[in-house]
Amino acid sequence: MKKVLENIIEKNREWSKRGEVASYIPELAKANPNALGICVTTLDGEEYFAGDYDSKFTIQSISKVVTLMLAILDNGTEYVFSKIGMEPTESAFNSIVNLENNKQKKPLNPMINAGAIATVSLISGETAEEKFNRILKFTRKITGNDTIDVNNNVYLCEKATGDRNRALAYFMKGNGIIQGDVEDILDVYFKACSMEVTCRDISRIGALLANAGVLLNNERVISREACRIIKTIMVTCGMYDASGKFAVHIGIPAKSGVGGGIMAAVPRRMGIGVLGPSLDHKGNSIAGIKVLESLSQEFDLSIF
Ligand code: GLN
Repeated sequence: MKKVLENIIEKNREWSKRGEVASYIPELAKANPNALGICVTTLDGEEYFAGDYDSKFTIQSISKVVTLMLAILDNGTEYVFSKIGMEPTESAFNSIVNLENNKQKKPLNPMINAGAIATVSLISGETAEEKFNRILKFTRKITGNDTIDVNNNVYLCEKATGDRNRALAYFMKGNGIIQGDVEDILDVYFKACSMEVTCRDISRIGALLANAGVLLNNERVISREACRIIKTIMVTCGMYDASGKFAVHIGIPAKSGVGGGIMAAVPRRMGIGVLGPSLDHKGNSIAGIKVLESLSQEFDLSIF
């Protein structure tokens, strides 16, 4: 397995040159565009690594899966999806247009920024600090990594430049989708996006989903049904407006982030974490997608 992963990384490294690191959050522009790494965690607890698997990066939109798990644990699926839709979008992840277009004014799904901000608003906690601490604690638990923390420079940078997210959040408050202090909700969202992880950490999240909500130590943290819903939404929405093509070519529930990470869950088989900070024009890791395509073909991982 290790040899196969190493070959896949080397074969796909050149793809990084065809993309660019995210720069709309200036702090992310410092990432190494040529980094490419992978970690596979199988459900019998084996871990396989290759490439730049131990480089740290911010979790970014992969946190949308984590916050969705927690919002479901706090509120149940029925309430969460009364506020947030489960439909894919052909617009970019930070698009505002659909918030006005759809009749219910709900964000289309929890995997785009608007939906994730609404998701974060549903997480229990008296204060923004308490809400974020619950997210951090939960992330540490499901990755088995107690050292995960916020990259403060990225967090401050997101907060300083996140006016588009601010616009989405105030728009949703105006429409009654979110309640409470908008700046507090955004603060929690920015911090959640700025948690620093490695391929191993996100492959563990993938393994949890692949294992229908049970950690590798056999502890159940989320219901099978919630996992089924989350994996389905990852298939239809996890790679934003590139989810259809990704489903056809790779066929694995996955979630990307603009830090260059992709977390993937192959039901009953494995969790996968990939890092490649060079992104395509939709904000997905350009070489990361190619790595997952090679892996899917090699081991026949498509769920379809
Ligand atoms: N923090 C980023 C943002 O809000 C997350 C987006 C992403 O990873 N696609 O814009």
